[in-house]
Amino acid sequence: MLAQRLRVPHISTGDMLRDRIRSGFETGTVMVATVQSGALVSDSVVNEMVKERLSEGDAARGFILDGYPRTLDQAGTLAAYLTGRGIREVVIHLAVDYNVIIARLTGRRQCPRCGTLYNVSSHPPRVEGVCDLDGEALAIRDDDREAVIRGRLDAYDRQTRPVLEYFRTSGHRVVEVDASHDPPETVYRQICQRMESA
Ligand SMILES: [Zn+2]
Repeated sequence: MLAQRLRVPHISTGDMLRDRIRSGFETGTVMVATVQSGALVSDSVVNEMVKERLSEGDAARGFILDGYPRTLDQAGTLAAYLTGRGIREVVIHLAVDYNVIIARLTGRRQCPRCGTLYNVSSHPPRVEGVCDLDGEALAIRDDDREAVIRGRLDAYDRQTRPVLEYFRTSGHRVVEVDASHDPPETVYRQICQRMESA
């Protein structure tokens, strides 16, 4: 929604990593094992991948980064890059209760053929376990299993929470929105309002 409104690309490092794995680009590498275990891929790999992506033409007028930066190293690299290009960023922190996150992600199902996402409680398919669009059996993504999610939340506490502190205490604009309960449209409206006043 934000990408459409601002007419800038939505750049998700998670999607980029999954795409690379799916296309066989990184078959059998450390990266595949790392992503599947829910751990974080090394800073230098992700930093390079993002810099390459940001140099593409469609990112010249701006971009939305999703899932990046996740560590202090990545945050420092990004801040230096943005300063070098004269880009002023807004950090959007979507605050969600951990129990809500676990309930949401463990209920997520994806169609292996077309990629459509469902949720057993909030957005179920018309027929249980089957994609509405092509009838394919839905699957749980490896990185949506509960043990993997808990590992990601631990990693978030150790590595990513300090990133928020870094942006807050170094003069960057940080917008915080409670995203625990409201539907996406409401969260989106709150983000827009807060960004305009930031
Ligand atoms: Zn499908």
